[in-house]
Amino acid sequence: MSKHIVILGAGYGGLLSALSAREHLTAAEASITVINKYDSHQIITELHRLAAGNVSEKAVALPLSKLFKGKDINVKIGAVQSVDPSAKKVSMEDGSSYAYDVLVLALGSETNFFGIPGLKENSFTLKSADEANRIFAHVKERLKAYRASKNKADATFVIGGGGLTGTELVGELADELPGYCREAGVDFADVSLYLVEAMPTILPMFSKELIERAVTSLESRGVQFLTNLPITEVNGNVVTLKDGRTIETNTLVWTGGVQGHSLVANCGIEVNRGRASVNEHLQSVSHPDVFLAGDCAVVFGPEGRPYPPTAQLAWQMGELVGANIAASLRGGSMKTFQPVFSGTLASLGRKDGIGMIGENGIELRGLPASLMKKASNARYLSHIDGLFALAY
Ligand code: NAD
Repeated sequence: MSKHIVILGAGYGGLLSALSAREHLTAAEASITVINKYDSHQIITELHRLAAGNVSEKAVALPLSKLFKGKDINVKIGAVQSVDPSAKKVSMEDGSSYAYDVLVLALGSETNFFGIPGLKENSFTLKSADEANRIFAHVKERLKAYRASKNKADATFVIGGGGLTGTELVGELADELPGYCREAGVDFADVSLYLVEAMPTILPMFSKELIERAVTSLESRGVQFLTNLPITEVNGNVVTLKDGRTIETNTLVWTGGVQGHSLVANCGIEVNRGRASVNEHLQSVSHPDVFLAGDCAVVFGPEGRPYPPTAQLAWQMGELVGANIAASLRGGSMKTFQPVFSGTLASLGRKDGIGMIGENGIELRGLPASLMKKASNARYLSHIDGLFALAY
């Protein structure tokens, strides 16, 4: 009898789970339903470019209808309200519900505000194309407002968190703000662009040399670094740092960290600090009919340390989940998850970047790193058949 596979989320993990499950299972063996908040698969590693107006929305939000065309995959657009793994049921905010034989949780991560007072209420986050569009529109608004008001808070832009998200965003803004200032009739010299980081350095995953290279490149384009200075409070448009200093800004973007998805953390499957615990086949350790792909699960490496939640890991998890679901439905043997790390690339604007690639951690800087990042995006798009996005 045909089984029903329900996949929550159409990010890297969910999309690849669906495509892989369909590749391995005929429509007679299983029907597949993908449930997602948006009608697009969003390339979230490129959202910083959309937020700075450096790329069109079509390049980062690929319609699910096109990606799933002719693949016999049902799509439901809407917000999940709850998941009940004991009743094998997913309930939606619109009142509908879905029964499943196999569930894939691929809901990604949520922003972590670490309980910092006023932060959530007074900041932008960069987790979707909508949020990126909102940041872009707001930045241009503030510059226009500054021309009229000469209120310094309108010309002050603060990014909180110097991980990959925050650094890539600040690099893009550093490239684009001078042009937007010209358009708005504002002197770029009046603009302050801060990157605030709690730890002694930004991008701690890279070598000292690469970090220095990133800092020098960004400083030369006007970025001011405030390191070793956690944001401790935000009150309206006043950001307070650990040393008591304050910055008045009408634009704070928070990129200070992620946490497991609350729907997964609270649904009753076994979790470890809010992220689902999985076995080597990427099944929930407490509910074997629930598979996990992407940031909402925690996968431990051989040294017992959790792998960082990255797109490449989510993509690989999704592919294996599809294959393992097919094996489990047919009574075959499932494969063990063995991630392959191709490296880490950080763009620092349109033409600059740093990277560490391959097993030996070969370091890249400048144009080669930028090109490698573009190539890795193109490779992903061709893999999911989203090549039409490259035209934009
Ligand atoms: P992150 O957790 O990697 O970085 C957040 C940064 O914010 C940290 O450096 C942290 O010290 C800082 N921070 C925390 N509290 C702070 C405070 N109170 N004040 C100031 N700074 C504070 O988060 P991210 O950059 O969003 O990345 C999330 C995940 O996504 C990571 O695993 C990352 O590897 C991945 N990612 C990868 C890419 C890429 O490959 N190019 C791009 C974006 C994200």
